[in-house]
Amino acid sequence: MTMSDPPRRRWLPELLRGFVLTVCLLFAGAEYWHGLETRREATAQIHLDAGNLARSVSQHAEDSILVADSVLSGIVENLRIDGAAPREARRLDDYLGDEARRSGRIHGLFVYDAQGRWIASSLEHLPSNVNNADRAYFKHHQAVDDTLPWVGPPVRSRSDNQWIITVSRRYNDARGRFAGVVLASIRSAYFAEHYRAFNVGRHGAITLLNDAGQVCARAPQLDSVGQDLSRTDLFARLRSAPTGSITYASPFDHVRRISGFQHGERFPLIAVASLSEDEALTAWRGSVRTHALLTLVTVVLLAGLGEWLRRQLLARQAAQDRLETLVRTDALTGLANRRALDEALADAWARARRDGTPLGLMLADIDHFKNFNDTYGHQAGDVCITQVAQVLRQGARRPGDLAARYGGEELALVLPGCDTDALRTMGEALCRNVRALQIPHAESYSASVVTISVGAVALWPSRLGEDEGPATLIHLADMALYDAKAGGRDRAAVRA
Ligand code: GH3
Ligand code: MG
Ligand code: MG
Repeated sequence: MTMSDPPRRRWLPELLRGFVLTVCLLFAGAEYWHGLETRREATAQIHLDAGNLARSVSQHAEDSILVADSVLSGIVENLRIDGAAPREARRLDDYLGDEARRSGRIHGLFVYDAQGRWIASSLEHLPSNVNNADRAYFKHHQAVDDTLPWVGPPVRSRSDNQWIITVSRRYNDARGRFAGVVLASIRSAYFAEHYRAFNVGRHGAITLLNDAGQVCARAPQLDSVGQDLSRTDLFARLRSAPTGSITYASPFDHVRRISGFQHGERFPLIAVASLSEDEALTAWRGSVRTHALLTLVTVVLLAGLGEWLRRQLLARQAAQDRLETLVRTDALTGLANRRALDEALADAWARARRDGTPLGLMLADIDHFKNFNDTYGHQAGDVCITQVAQVLRQGARRPGDLAARYGGEELALVLPGCDTDALRTMGEALCRNVRALQIPHAESYSASVVTISVGAVALWPSRLGEDEGPATLIHLADMALYDAKAGGRDRAAVRA
């Protein structure tokens, strides 16, 4: 049995679900994009900050060395005028001590003769038998006859074992020959103390390197001073440009850092200001988390609301479906009712006219049913009608077939595509099957059990005029039913 569904927006719940899903995905996508965008901005800001810091650190290193060098220039000038005779040495000692104390940056000032022996220093006591001819700066000035300051590699001071970096100049004797070296030392710790004033986070670092890749100063982790980074990938990248910023994993502690770097303009030093990428993005992460949480809540609320609405829609549709089925179903037999029969007939007629196919209609009426009611009671009569209805229902086998209750104890079968012969065969089968139910009917004049009479007709709507319709079919089937009754009942009559 099929009943034509009225056009219903069955796709609406799925459309709703698709819509909500799309909106949720859009929200999530927008959130993701926003996260990426803000991360990009935050990272760019970190690069900028690190670069600025590196420039400041570089400036400080250059200034410090310039200060030391200006003192050295003075000393060289002194030596040129006064010479380094032993009687001058005492005066020189005092001068160096004064200069070193005056400057917070300078750790020590020293004068060596052409053999590397200590002539004078800013120290209280001159260590005896110390020779600095082995130091890199000494060898440099011995070899290179110029008046330029030279920044040496980080070394441990022979006076107090602290890490220092040195600035030195050569001085010549009156005849222009190498007479020795004047040197100022600056403690690595001095730089480190300065660097500690900057907030670079717990995992940030500020490092001063020379152009040979040696660590001159670093904060924190001053103990990395003296380390050689010349062979690291990091140093190669620091060398590649005079200024810039890079992202890398630290060779010291493997923390991922964003570093700004700046090469000195006058001296071969590279200032590197590094911020832990992870730490620097903390604020960004916090904002993304809050944002994502809000989005999540929105999405969950939206999805929940959408799902609730969808279920409401489905429930309403299901209720409507039930109601519609009820409206088209006969309460007693469960077959289609008269209303559904009329609609199905009209549909089937139109389809058969369009397709040029026959349309069969069969009417079945229980024989002497008034007597049955009188004998067995109205309730038994109802049961009997229901049983006969089941036989009719089984007759509706193909899609498009419809078994219906026409009214009272009259039932109908709409059979699209059925011609006269098929109807005859089917009608006889129906009579047989009802008889086979073996429902006793003592007061029937035609048999001892309940029987039916069947009237059937098949028409080709396409061969008939426009004014013919389902009513013709019903009328002719009714006539055939009358024939069957007149013919003795318990039989099928087919109108050709
Ligand atoms: P015929 O062989 O000529 O059809 O004789 P009949 O007694 O069946 O005659 P008719 O068709 O005129 O009688 C129909 C009877 O069916 C009348 C009525 O009491 C009974 N009937 C109609 N609808 C129902 C129903 O829903 N339940 C019951 N129990 N009886 C019904
Ligand atoms: Mg009747
Ligand atoms: Mg009857």
